[in-house]
Amino acid sequence: MTTVLTSAPAVVRTVRELRERLRDYRAKAGADATVGLVPTMGFLHEGHASLIRRSAAENGLTVLSIFVNPLQFGPNEDFERYPRDEARDLAIAADAGAQLVFMPEVRDMYPTPPSTKIIVGGITERLCGASRPGHFDGVGVVVTKLFNLVQPGRAYFGLKDAQQVAVVSTIVADLNQPVEIVPCPIVREADGLAMSSRNVYLKPEEREQALILSRTLRQVPAWVREGATPESLKANMTASIAGMPLAEIDYAEVLTYPDLQPPAEGEALRHVPVPLLAAVAVKFGQTRLIDNVLLNPNEVN
Ligand code: AMP
Repeated sequence: MTTVLTSAPAVVRTVRELRERLRDYRAKAGADATVGLVPTMGFLHEGHASLIRRSAAENGLTVLSIFVNPLQFGPNEDFERYPRDEARDLAIAADAGAQLVFMPEVRDMYPTPPSTKIIVGGITERLCGASRPGHFDGVGVVVTKLFNLVQPGRAYFGLKDAQQVAVVSTIVADLNQPVEIVPCPIVREADGLAMSSRNVYLKPEEREQALILSRTLRQVPAWVREGATPESLKANMTASIAGMPLAEIDYAEVLTYPDLQPPAEGEALRHVPVPLLAAVAVKFGQTRLIDNVLLNPNEVN
C-alpha cells in the first residue's frame, strides 16, 4: 500500500480571513490564478470528495465551504440535528485536495437576517421546491453570497440535487454572475444508495428498504424505451417504491431538464427530444431521501 501525503488545508472561519487568504493567493498566482468553489454543508462523504477532486484537478486553488445554512431549512426540518464532524471533514478535504476550507459561524454569514431575497420562479414550483417551501430561496442567498465572497471561476455541484443545479445555473445566468457551474455525477454506495450526509439517520431496516430508490430509478431507462408515458412512468415508479412498507413517498416525477416542465400527457417519453429527469423524494421514518436519474434523448431511443 502506498501512503499518500496530503497537506492540511488552511481553515478560515470568518469572512475577513477568507478574503485575506484569497487576496494572498491571487497576488501570488497573478494572471494564472484559478479558483474553484465546492459549497457543502459538511459531514463529508465520497460524493463531496468527488467534487473537491474535480475542482482540484481544474483549478489552482480549491475552496471548500462547510456551512449548514439555516435559511434553507424549514421550521420542522433537521437544521438542529444535521450531522457534523469537523475533524473527519478536514481529513477528507485534505485527502481530496482542498487547499482552503471556509467554515463560518451563522453570525458571520448573517450578522443580521438578510432582507434581500433571491426567488427563482418557474423551476422551483415542483419537486423539492414544492415540498420544501422557501428552501431554494435560502439556497439562492447562500450560494450568491459564497460566489461574491470567493469569486470562483468555477463552482462544483452534484446532480444528486439536480433541481439545485438547475436553480443555481438560472441565478448565474439571470444575474450574469461570472462563474461556470460544473454539474458532477451522483456518487453511490456499492449497493446503489446515493451517498448523502443524511444516510446516517437511517435505521438498519430503513437503510435496507431505501435501496428501492436506486433500484427503481435503474429501471427507468427500460420503461421509457418500452414506451412509457409520463403517467405510466410515474405509476411504475410509485408502485415500485410503495412495495416497501417503510417508504412514504413525497414525490415520484418525470420532468424535462433543466427547465423542469411536465412532458406532454399521453406522449411516449422516448419521443421527447430533450433530457428528462426522473426524480423521487421518499421518507423512511424521520429521514427524507432524494435520488434521480437524468436521461438523454439518445439513450432511450
Ligand atoms: P450537501 O452537503 O448535501 O449540501 O451537498 C453539497 C454538494 O455535494 C451539493 O452540490 C450536492 O449535490 C453534492 N452531493 C451530495 N451528495 C452527493 C452524491 N452522492 N454524489 C454527488 N454529489 C453529491
